[in-house]
Amino acid sequence: MQKTIIKNAHVISPDVDLVDATIVVEGKKITQVTTKKVSEKGATTVVDVKGQYVMPGFIDVHTHGALTYDFCDADPQAIFKLAEAKLAEGVTTVLPTTLTVSHEELLVAAKNAKAYVEAGSPFAKVPGIHLEGPFINVKCCGAQNPKFVRKPEIKEVKEINKVFPVKQISYAVETEGGAKFAKDCIKMGVVPSCGHTGAKLADLMPAYKNGLRHMTHFCNQMTPLHHREIGMVGAGFLIEDLNTEVICDKIHLCPDMLRLIFTRRSLAHIQMITDSLRCSHCKDGYAFSMGGLDVLLKGGEARLVNGGNLAGSTLWMGMGLKNVHDVTGLPLKDLVRTTSWNQAIEFGWGEELGKVEKGFTADLVVVNPKSWKPSAVFVDGEQRI
Ligand SMILES: [Zn+2]
Repeated sequence: MQKTIIKNAHVISPDVDLVDATIVVEGKKITQVTTKKVSEKGATTVVDVKGQYVMPGFIDVHTHGALTYDFCDADPQAIFKLAEAKLAEGVTTVLPTTLTVSHEELLVAAKNAKAYVEAGSPFAKVPGIHLEGPFINVKCCGAQNPKFVRKPEIKEVKEINKVFPVKQISYAVETEGGAKFAKDCIKMGVVPSCGHTGAKLADLMPAYKNGLRHMTHFCNQMTPLHHREIGMVGAGFLIEDLNTEVICDKIHLCPDMLRLIFTRRSLAHIQMITDSLRCSHCKDGYAFSMGGLDVLLKGGEARLVNGGNLAGSTLWMGMGLKNVHDVTGLPLKDLVRTTSWNQAIEFGWGEELGKVEKGFTADLVVVNPKSWKPSAVFVDGEQRI
């Protein structure tokens, strides 16, 4: 069995901050994390990470594309490129996310995900997909195409799920049948999430009672907080156990809003996401079309050529963590649960993913504390970067 020793590690894991630590990996599992001296006898590989951070591999449950590819392109290469780019960010588990498109296009995306897994998942692991839409509120489309918006229909989800597991669905709870839809999703093992929504607090509650506990890109494309109707933003602050996705690029949410969320909400119920688009991992000046609208990447921001509206994110997971650490001053050992462990718990992998601890799967990212870029990434104990 392959035995890897990772030494001189600064281990950052939920509630753990250890310097000069050694991590022993045997096969796919972590068998030891210690600050005591470890014999290198019998080790297949010894990796000296020279004091860099070693964190649980990031889990991104919301991302659409990278390197000019979008998961919804009818191109089998797209998911390979997305998973390759995500791995370079230190993401070891990813839910490729669809857009509001036709049922046929969703089936093609699911088939492409299946082919990626059948090819041995060479980059980040893909346990399932996230459907963002098509069951959203037409008035809160954001960058989604209103032409393909439709009412929640569990039959459609079941058809896609037959091809490849659906793990999450972002939909508007206020749409007809929205509360029952949450229950139907949970029955199938799918996480229902309120997103692209014009819901008032009262619209959310029937779905919440039916088990909905997730909010898609909290604050973006949802009803804002008002003192006579607190909307979905207010709901996120009022209801502690709503697992809120947050895009931490300091653009989708200003630094003060990030500070408000991370210091006032329970860290056990926040999940960092990238919501990155095909323009992530691309050079400045990259131009592309989204739903017929021209978008230009400039200064790391993807904006519509006409009007200048934000068209999506180019965020890397680790940079999101750095941004929140910078604006809140909160310790990394507290924040790091929002980049993987919270996701692992909600999606049912909490026994094996999201911690650098004995018994957990060796999905690890080594982060350079100066550049915040990953210098090594391990998946199932295998060094892939
Ligand atoms: Zn999205």
